[in-house]
Amino acid sequence: MTGMSTIQIGGLHKSFGKLEVLRGIDLSVDPGEVVCVIGPSGSGKSTLLRCVNLLEEPTAGSIRVAGVEVTDPDCDIDEVRRGIGMVFQQFNLFGHLTVRENVTIAQRRVLKRGRAEAHRIAAENLERVGLADKAGAYPAQLSGGQQQRVAIARALAMDPKLMLFDEPTSALDPELVGEVLAVMRGLAAEGMTMLVVTHEMAFAREVASRVVFMDGGVIVEQGPPAEVFGRPREERTRAFLHRVL
Ligand code: ADP
Ligand code: MG
Repeated sequence: MTGMSTIQIGGLHKSFGKLEVLRGIDLSVDPGEVVCVIGPSGSGKSTLLRCVNLLEEPTAGSIRVAGVEVTDPDCDIDEVRRGIGMVFQQFNLFGHLTVRENVTIAQRRVLKRGRAEAHRIAAENLERVGLADKAGAYPAQLSGGQQQRVAIARALAMDPKLMLFDEPTSALDPELVGEVLAVMRGLAAEGMTMLVVTHEMAFAREVASRVVFMDGGVIVEQGPPAEVFGRPREERTRAFLHRVL
């Protein structure tokens, strides 16, 4: 490995009360990598992602984001979060704001960008997700796929070093999944560092630099997609892939 990992997780445990959801996760993501996390429902994928920006507080272990230990009490977590874009299953757009306003509000409030600059950057990123013509629309006037692309543009407008995606296409009608995956494929091609929880096995197979299979709060196996999908080493991986493919 050369240089610093974008994410470096060591010995991560997370419990909710008596329920141990993450049971010792070691994972690193290097600059420019696209790491896809797959695994059954309840295996801890969302919790893992949420620990990276401390939406969940780890019970034990270490998480470094671009070299900064996020569990260190002295860490400025707001500063770390500014460098991380997160896209969820639910788009969480402001319904009373236009698309342009949705993509500028955090730029103005958090990054203190001026109005003209924020508008210019919003326009660039709406162009990037193929929605340059929707800046004046309200979320309710858009399809689910378009709304999710606005959510991606909103995250990109903050110049993230890292993008986290938690099942970004799971709430979409099947015919709208492709347009969102196409945007994500484009980001990967631009070299964006991405950690993606997904059920889209064809996407993972084609776009991931590495696939991580989680079950029961541990990483069961990980490797290049051709290996994990083509020659899984672990029986649990084979059983999961057999169910979903
Ligand atoms: P996945 O994303 O792989 O489906 P999650 O990380 O969402 O899995 O959840 C893993 C387990 O942790 C599940 O059993 C879930 O019910 C539990 N869990 C997740 N969040 C909480 C929470 N805030 N409080 C209690 N239990 C939780
Ligand atoms: Mg989940």
